[in-house]
Amino acid sequence: MKNVPIAEQLANPVPCALLDKDVVDAKSMRSTELDDLLIRSNSRKPLFDYIFFQASPEVSHEQAQGLARVAISATMCCVLFFSLDVTSSTRDAISVFLAFLYSLLSVGYYFFLVVHKENFRWRRYIAIIADLGVVSYAFFRFGVNGIAFYPLYLWIMIGNGLRFGVRYLGIASLVGIVGFSAAAGIGGVTEQHSSVILGLLIGLVVIPKFFLVMIKRIADANGVLKRHIEDAQYRATHDELTGLPNRTVLNDRLQHALENAEREETLLAVVFLDLDGFKAINDNFGHESGDQLLREVASCLERSVRSCDTVSRLGGDEFIVLLENASDTAGILSIVDRINSCSGSYYSIGEYQTYISWSCGVAIYPKDGEDVQTLVKNADTAMYRAKASRTRRVCVYDGSMSEEVAAQLSLRDQLRKAVDNQELTLHYQPQINLLTNRIVGAEALLRWHHPQRGMIPPGEFIPVAEQTGLIVAAGLQVLETVAQTLSRFRDRQLPLVPIYVNVSPQQLSEPDFLDTLMAVVRRYRISPEALGLEVTENLLIEDAEQTKVLLDALKSLGFKIALDDFGTGFSSLSYLTLFPIDRIKIDQSFFRDFPHNQHQCSIVDAILAIGNKLEMEVIAEGVETQVQAESLIKRGCSILQGYYSAKPTPRSEYELLLERSMV
Ligand code: C2E
Ligand code: CA
Ligand code: CA
Repeated sequence: MKNVPIAEQLANPVPCALLDKDVVDAKSMRSTELDDLLIRSNSRKPLFDYIFFQASPEVSHEQAQGLARVAISATMCCVLFFSLDVTSSTRDAISVFLAFLYSLLSVGYYFFLVVHKENFRWRRYIAIIADLGVVSYAFFRFGVNGIAFYPLYLWIMIGNGLRFGVRYLGIASLVGIVGFSAAAGIGGVTEQHSSVILGLLIGLVVIPKFFLVMIKRIADANGVLKRHIEDAQYRATHDELTGLPNRTVLNDRLQHALENAEREETLLAVVFLDLDGFKAINDNFGHESGDQLLREVASCLERSVRSCDTVSRLGGDEFIVLLENASDTAGILSIVDRINSCSGSYYSIGEYQTYISWSCGVAIYPKDGEDVQTLVKNADTAMYRAKASRTRRVCVYDGSMSEEVAAQLSLRDQLRKAVDNQELTLHYQPQINLLTNRIVGAEALLRWHHPQRGMIPPGEFIPVAEQTGLIVAAGLQVLETVAQTLSRFRDRQLPLVPIYVNVSPQQLSEPDFLDTLMAVVRRYRISPEALGLEVTENLLIEDAEQTKVLLDALKSLGFKIALDDFGTGFSSLSYLTLFPIDRIKIDQSFFRDFPHNQHQCSIVDAILAIGNKLEMEVIAEGVETQVQAESLIKRGCSILQGYYSAKPTPRSEYELLLERSMV
């Protein structure tokens, strides 16, 4: 095939009707599809084209051939009528009469085909034999002048081949050669003009063969072209990785769905999904695994929606599901629930199981927008809101969100500046042994003094730092500052009381976390025993195997490991024995109504019992009153961190407290 640029090929498709099932790969190119393509590409054909092609989708190949037969036989009849002497020669009159009869039969046969459209192969064979019989008879009848009918042979043979395929071309040429030879032999033409007849016979064999090769070539070219067209169309409308429709298709469908919803007065919803912590999965398991996970998520999403809904991937770890034809918000939310049943579960990538969840924002037509852009933007805003919230995985848009999101975006930018300019500071909250009344540890807690807004609580800015990845840089600053504090205390010969820092899962999943930590420890020449790391339960479940390797390494280097907010996560108790944990921090929520609330007392007792059995230190966090402290001592818990004994304070004050506790 000539090298034609794809764009040009797309603009000028090669005619496709020249195909046969035997020649063309049935899967990639069914001849009927190609015929359709041909008909569509050139639906207004001149009448003459009926001789070779089907002219419109309503007219079948056979009808087209029937019409051609009518035209050709009528022309033959006229030519004979004017060229022969019908008035004086009976023989000529009979010839013209036979031609006329054949024209009449052709007209009748055409109408027969219009009524009986069903496919009947033998009807075509009979038509081939009849056509060639008539032409052979004319050849026989007119002697060597009958050669004038030779082009008609070609039409019958090639026309059949082009319309019905190679099989018919073969049969037509065989019948043609037999008829031609018989007519020439019986008419005595062979003896008189043997070389002319031989030449024509060779032509009858060679020309169909030539067309056969040509058809095959065109079929191959068409196959390649069709695949190019299909590929280009697929790529333009689908996400290559998951096979889901892409943003272009989504916008189209959403536009269409909006028109429908307006007409039918139904609701529709745009559901925006964004995976949580996908970057860490890509970093830890590699991009191939990340891709596999995206495919798994895509297929889970597809399974959870109805057939009329559209799941699309916008790119990265963002998906949009379009829910159509909803009658009420409750119906929409129940499908959203079903979609979210795929979130917060384990997906297998290769030999690993990995936990993945996502944040989900919902915008509903008409209340949250009446056009494509507004609905998608508002669903995105609601998703952003869900992401920022620690507890809500799904948010339905409401009007106040846009302002809130704008405020959050500005907070994000300001936090970035604060981290870059090292404006975040640390407070230290002492941990006291109630029996000795001495400080046995401290927790380092980040503080952000915003120039305009004043003190911003960590509960507000830590989630933003986590979402934006800023937590890694901020966490490193915390480690540096704590190491600096510890080295200062050592130089001032203050007692070696460990300081615990909160490390976020993102920090721990950084491949060079251990090296960075050791570099800090060496730079300030502090002992790892003086540094504790607080991790949350969820870290343990997210990637148990890798976390265990890291925590074992940290433990063997001498760092202390504390399990923060114990009792609020979803880890199984068996994790306590699996990981090298030194201390458990009972979450402060269990001390809200302690010791008056019987349930909270039972939970605290149970955690203390587990800690004792497993020989882990147990510390109570968020203890605010003397009653609570006394009750804890009675239950066997002597270490606490809470406003009762001390609030988080700047380093200078913590240093004073340490000095005093030495006395
Ligand atoms: P957390 O790790 O559970 O920290 C304990 C929180 O409880 C601190 O809040 C502390 O001030 C508060 N607290 C201590 N005793 C009491 C009490 O008796 N009553 C009450 N109501 N609260 C008490 P803070 O400082 O606001 O920190 C909140 C959270 O921010 C922390 O929870 C931690 O998850 C996160 N955070 C703080 N600093 C860092 C950090 O450096 N890195 C990371 N990754 N997270 C941090
Ligand atoms: Ca903590
Ligand atoms: Ca805690």
